[in-house]
Formats: sequence, structure tokens, C-alpha cells
Amino acid sequence: MGMPGFNQTTIKKAIQFDGVGLHNGKDAVLKLLPAKPYHGIVFKRTDLKTKNLIPAVFSNVSKAALCTIIENEFGTSVSTIEHLMGALYGEEIDNLLVEVNSSELPILDGSAKHFVKKLREAGIKNYDTPRKFIKVLKKFELKKNDKYISIEPFENDLEIDFEIVYKNQLIGKQRKSIKLSKSNLDPIYNSRTFCLFEDINKIQSQGFGKGGSLENAVIVQNDKVLNEDGLRYKAEFVMHKILDCMGDLMLANYRFFGKIECSRGGHRLTNEFLKDFMSDRNNFSIVEYKEKKLPNSPFYTGPVAASA
Ligand SMILES: [Zn+2]
Repeated sequence: MGMPGFNQTTIKKAIQFDGVGLHNGKDAVLKLLPAKPYHGIVFKRTDLKTKNLIPAVFSNVSKAALCTIIENEFGTSVSTIEHLMGALYGEEIDNLLVEVNSSELPILDGSAKHFVKKLREAGIKNYDTPRKFIKVLKKFELKKNDKYISIEPFENDLEIDFEIVYKNQLIGKQRKSIKLSKSNLDPIYNSRTFCLFEDINKIQSQGFGKGGSLENAVIVQNDKVLNEDGLRYKAEFVMHKILDCMGDLMLANYRFFGKIECSRGGHRLTNEFLKDFMSDRNNFSIVEYKEKKLPNSPFYTGPVAASA
């Protein structure tokens, strides 16, 4: 990806995805449409006539158990937005209208691979409007039992250092760290949702996972992956958690300059963390940068504004 861009973006043309929802099991059509600066990412439930717009911001997160669900003031919700949101974070897309004719996005192959492929084919449109960044000013931590997440200051990039610890012998303990502007994000995008075989009945009895199959999730039973082709990467499990984390951070509305460390976290922890962190303005400042060409360097960048 190179240096993060300093201006807001959208996509050059509309793109579409069709497929089943992981949890509701219903077929859905998802359309991504270009949008103007400061529009942000806004979902629109096209199966509803009114009260159908849901801005993708952390304050609209209503549930974050097995997936991330956002809901507007009228109780209209959309589920399982995290993999698309992770793709938008990594591919640096700020503004979109996201139309979906169902209460859940299609899960596709359980990763962000197909989202990223079509986003890249559509191409990025750059606006002249500066993008806003969240610059972390001091370390902030959140602990919930054995789960942990923190963010600390880090210059001009987002680093995510993630650890998972499972009793399951195949998953076990995995740790991976990425820098958004420097790492190859493709393995992160390609890493799929996973679940333990013994949890399937419990998940389905709670009304989730109705569309789940070996086509859209990695299923692990003891020391075996039940999917015929096995894993895409040895670290696929922890890399998928990083994708989820990126997707949930995208709900901050601005990109982070900071370093995240997370152990045993998930959607719920990341969302609680965002709400707590963002509620105290001593934790961060909002900055924007202007791209200026100088004779001797291709780009000069420096902060031009910091609003309180
Ligand atoms: Zn996920």
C-alpha cells in the first residue's frame, strides 16, 4: 500500500456482490456505490422503504457477539459488516453508500478476498478533501477478564499486534503483527472466519450460523481442519482476527495513527474499547495533512490543522 494517503477517497464505479448471510442464511445483494467526501460509510437497507440508513460508526454498534451489528435510531440493523469494513480500512476507502436488500451482508468465502478484488478492479477516486486521522496521544488499555486491548502513540501508521490463545490443539497460541502501510495485507484479507466443530450446535441454537458451511468458514475438529483444502495459511486464525479488528476500528470513522496490542479479543472487546477510548478527548487529537509539492522532494507533508 505504501504511505497512507492524506486525502479522502471513494470508488470509481459501483460494484455488486451476491450471496448468503452467514447467520440469517438468506440470500442478499450488496451494492457499493461511490459517495462524496464526509459522507463516510453508510449502509442502506433497500428492502425497507423508510428509516433505512445506518451510518457505520461505533456509536451505532448494537451487538458484537459473533459478528458486528449496527443499528440506527429507528431499530433498523445490518449484521456482519466487519469483513467489508476491514477491506475498506486496508484499501483506504472512506466514503461509500452500501446498499443491501437484507438484514445481513453476504459472507462470500468468509474472508475479505472477494471484497478486495472488486474494490481494486473498480479503482480508487481521490478527492482534494483532506482525510482526518486519529492521533493517539497516550496509552489506553482495556482489560476484561483474560482479554486485553491497548493502544499507544505510533507515528504515521497503524500497527496491530494480535494474539489468540485457544485450548484447541490445532489453533493453540498464535501471534501476528502488521503495519497497515508496510505489510502485505493480502494474507489478512484472504483469511477466513473459523469456528470449532463442537460450538456449531450452540451457535445455531442461538439463531446464528444458519448460512454457515465449509464454503464460508474454516471448521476445526480437534486437531483437524474439516475443509477439504485445509488452511490457506498456518496463521490463518490470528490473521482473520486482525481483519476483524481492522473492520471494527473502521467504525471510528477516521483512521488511526497508533499501535494496538490485543490478546484474546474480538468484536465485543474492540467495540467497548472504541467507545471508551473515543469518549475521552485527552486520549487523542484529530489531525489532517495537506499534500504539498516542493521542488526538491516529491511530497512535503505536515499537519495543517488539529481540531479539539
Ligand atoms: Zn470475522
